[in-house]
Amino acid sequence: MAKYRFQDLGLENTREMFKRANENGHSVPAFNFANLEQLKAILEACSTADSDVILQISDSARKYIGKETLALMVKGAILDMRESGSEISIALNLDHGKDFKEIKDCLDYGFSSVMIDASHEEFSKNVEKTKEIVELAKVYGASVEGELGVLSGVEDEISSEDEKFTNPGEVVEFVEKTGVDSLAIAIGTAHGAHKFKPGTDPKLRLDILEKIKEKLGNFPIVLHGSSSVPPEYINKFREFGGEIKDAIGIPDSELQEASKSIVTKINVDTDGRLVFTSTLLEYMKNNPKEMDLKKYLAVPKKEMTNYYTNKIQNVFKK
Ligand SMILES: [Zn+2]
Repeated sequence: MAKYRFQDLGLENTREMFKRANENGHSVPAFNFANLEQLKAILEACSTADSDVILQISDSARKYIGKETLALMVKGAILDMRESGSEISIALNLDHGKDFKEIKDCLDYGFSSVMIDASHEEFSKNVEKTKEIVELAKVYGASVEGELGVLSGVEDEISSEDEKFTNPGEVVEFVEKTGVDSLAIAIGTAHGAHKFKPGTDPKLRLDILEKIKEKLGNFPIVLHGSSSVPPEYINKFREFGGEIKDAIGIPDSELQEASKSIVTKINVDTDGRLVFTSTLLEYMKNNPKEMDLKKYLAVPKKEMTNYYTNKIQNVFKK
């Protein structure tokens, strides 16, 4: 029994926003957040850039915030945003849902979209687990994202050493048998800040994406691990005390190409963390006496807002 209906929290599922994005050759940003400041930064950026948005939460971020707090915080933040006249569509998605119990709990607490990540399983098991979630989500009217292929990198509790590109020969059977609304694929993006080895060409396998498009037509495709990891913020992070090695992200030009094709949802998490944290380190170094949270959190929040506003204009809506 749902404790909160997503419609009552001011949310929509992803179907209409994906349809609009595909028609316009755009993609919808799926930005992860873990606190109020990041949530507000995302909503402000998307309002300013007039872009629909998928608010994205990992299981660990949900536990950190608390499931009741999360539902009502999202509702409140959307209501505050509406006061400014913004009419963008907003979804709340569980990132990398693991099992039936966890996903059902999210749906009961107002998520309008869920991902079931059974991509590490054999194809038939992946189909079986994904289909089960599609049937469950129908009861709530929520949308479901499945995944075929394996990304490398580390993202919260998700970690994989080896990547396995999506096999275009499997996509039609997967989509038809499961009934998913969107499909996450592996074409060279990676979780975390270390997406490419130094000295290698940071390119996506857009040829695989084209083969998938030939098979599926305009079906909504999702890219995980698509932060750009800009060098200026890596430098700032290091300059003000942070430690990080060989951080290389996805070039904006690659994301633009993917977005013009059938990629409809692009996940960005690392950039939000990096921009926020490096700016916070800089501010505290320059203002060591500051103890007012409202003051020192407002600065990285503003920086993250500006970064995402530009990112939407330069990549998602390009
Ligand atoms: Zn992911």
